[in-house]
Amino acid sequence: MSEIKKLPILDLSRAFKDIHAEVSEAVERVLNSQAFILGPEVKNFETHVENYLDLQPENAIGCASGSDALLLALMALDLKPGDEVITTPFTFFATASAITRLGARPVFVDVDPATYNIDLNQALNKINNNTKVFLPVHLFGQTVPIEKIYDELKSRDIKIVEDAAQSFGAWRKVNGSIARAGVMGDVGCYSFFPTKNLGACGDGGMIVTRDAKLAARLRKLRVHGEGSTYYHEEVGLNSRLDAIQAAILDVKLKYLESWNKQRRELAANYKNLFNNYNLNDFITPPSELEDNYHIYHQYVIRVKDRRDELMQYLEANNFITRVYYPLCLHMQTCFKFLNYKPGDFPTAEKLSSEVLALPIFPGLLSSEQERLVSKIKEFFK
Ligand SMILES: *Cc1c(COP(=O)(O)O)cnc(C)c1O
Repeated sequence: MSEIKKLPILDLSRAFKDIHAEVSEAVERVLNSQAFILGPEVKNFETHVENYLDLQPENAIGCASGSDALLLALMALDLKPGDEVITTPFTFFATASAITRLGARPVFVDVDPATYNIDLNQALNKINNNTKVFLPVHLFGQTVPIEKIYDELKSRDIKIVEDAAQSFGAWRKVNGSIARAGVMGDVGCYSFFPTKNLGACGDGGMIVTRDAKLAARLRKLRVHGEGSTYYHEEVGLNSRLDAIQAAILDVKLKYLESWNKQRRELAANYKNLFNNYNLNDFITPPSELEDNYHIYHQYVIRVKDRRDELMQYLEANNFITRVYYPLCLHMQTCFKFLNYKPGDFPTAEKLSSEVLALPIFPGLLSSEQERLVSKIKEFFK
């Protein structure tokens, strides 16, 4: 008898099998060229991203990771010790470490319980003379309505750096036109970590901007602040996108829209299943704001009181779920020096005890979703 297979939170192999040959061909091309750092493959991918995001040439800059994209963005904005950056405590660690690495202070703001994204009114209340940057995170694939506070931020000369690591391809309608995650503010940061919606076969990241001067500075900063070869105008990083990763990402970019569409269909199917199984008294599905093209990097439900128990029950039944994120950033040991305490951000803290991410990825079958949801029903019965 064959062993029952676990359904993982993410199975990358399902979407990959359809493009395996095409990716292999791209990798082979780079191997034959023996040009591995920057060069035409990176340039080509950057150009395709510029086209996709409707940016001018040279305004997309590949780099080594999403974490580096954030760090480079803040370096390019001259963030210094004493400066403050308003951001969310309910996100992946790298959002805040980019700030503290430069000696600046993350000023956390609680989140909106419906979208899990930063609460914009509370963000405005935290602005003072030290505030240099507003750093919203388009969490789990849903955009932050930055336009609501855009003018206010601009009038106070505060830069907007978007952490769009989880939202490449997400957008919202603003005044009738499409505003994409990453290009709503001054600088956008993407990650191509393998698990992201657009994922490489290793680490990778990208920074985008509409400001040509800033773009030129970012291009220097990713190669040790080099002006001409071996002449350094400032201290940058070694943070380049590999040619192999760029070639792979360029293949995957063509499929991104259809993969994101599939994620949305899977999300809609979860919602229907929760209705059909009458589960809405026990769990809260993620809410998608009006005019938002949520790309469901993660499908994160809320479970009152019994989250961990449910997670164990599902695992015992071969369904793997995950908690993003179990500990808010203001409660992390390494950020003790910021002097936050439990209770400072009640919504974010409550979410960390209630959220549960269910499997969602291209190639997930609706029959698998149904089996999973029926197990959730069984648990609550
Ligand atoms: C993944 C992620 C990052 C970091 O990206 P890496 O490529 O892993 O360095 C930053 N912020 C958020 C919100 C992320 O999800």
